[in-house]
Amino acid sequence: MKIVLLGPPGAGKGTQAKQISNDYNIPHISTGDMFRKNISEKTELGIKAKGYMDKGLLVPDELTIDIVKDRLSNEDCKNGFLLDGFPRTVKQAEALDSFLTEPIDTALLIEVPRDNILERMTGRRVCPKCGASYHIKFNPSKIEMKCDVCGSELIQRKDDSVETVAERLDVYYKQTEPLVEYYKSKNVLCTVDGTKDINIVFEDIKDVLGRN
Ligand code: ADP
Ligand code: AMP
Repeated sequence: MKIVLLGPPGAGKGTQAKQISNDYNIPHISTGDMFRKNISEKTELGIKAKGYMDKGLLVPDELTIDIVKDRLSNEDCKNGFLLDGFPRTVKQAEALDSFLTEPIDTALLIEVPRDNILERMTGRRVCPKCGASYHIKFNPSKIEMKCDVCGSELIQRKDDSVETVAERLDVYYKQTEPLVEYYKSKNVLCTVDGTKDINIVFEDIKDVLGRN
């Protein structure tokens, strides 16, 4: 099963991706996580990407497309994958189509209105080690500021500040939302209501994937 997750920052893509990846046994590929790993390892790519990410801007396509192409050529992607945060531009979507031998099965849009996003993002806490995502109010960790999965100390992402979230949302509506039409025209778009409780969203996703 080859799935692309769509939706604004804070829609719940990462949260749902962890569950989908476990249930369907396909790798969860998050370009955001890949960039953050490169930043923490101070690679050349990480140093270049950081400048864009801190401002809430997209990392240029030239730096993004190749890392995904490379990742998808790994053995573990043979029977499918779940892309989270890629593609984010029409150019990336076209590149993805060009390097897959078969088209993707489902582009799953998690719909959340702009008004809900700010509270979601500013209350988000993440695990820097395993990437698990929590929310201080909607999805708190069992022990305050400790990851339920691996026990690491949770952090607040630098780009989850009020100012950067506003920029990231503008970028989403300008550069990424056109992908909804792109995948609709290919008849692979499915939509779920991302404002419901996390577990209900996951049930809805399983329903949609079962029908596809
Ligand atoms: P994305 O990967 O789309 O940017 P996340 O999965 O990191 O989004 O979710 C953003 C924030 O919203 C996190 O703090 C997460 O715990 C919270 N969240 C995710 N899904 C829901 C939901 N259905 N209801 C309320 N909060 C949610
Ligand atoms: P995310 O973890 O998906 O919220 O991504 C965090 C940041 O990483 C984004 O705001 C972008 O700066 C960058 N990024 C992640 N994926 C992409 C992509 N496909 N194209 C360009 N930039 C990206």
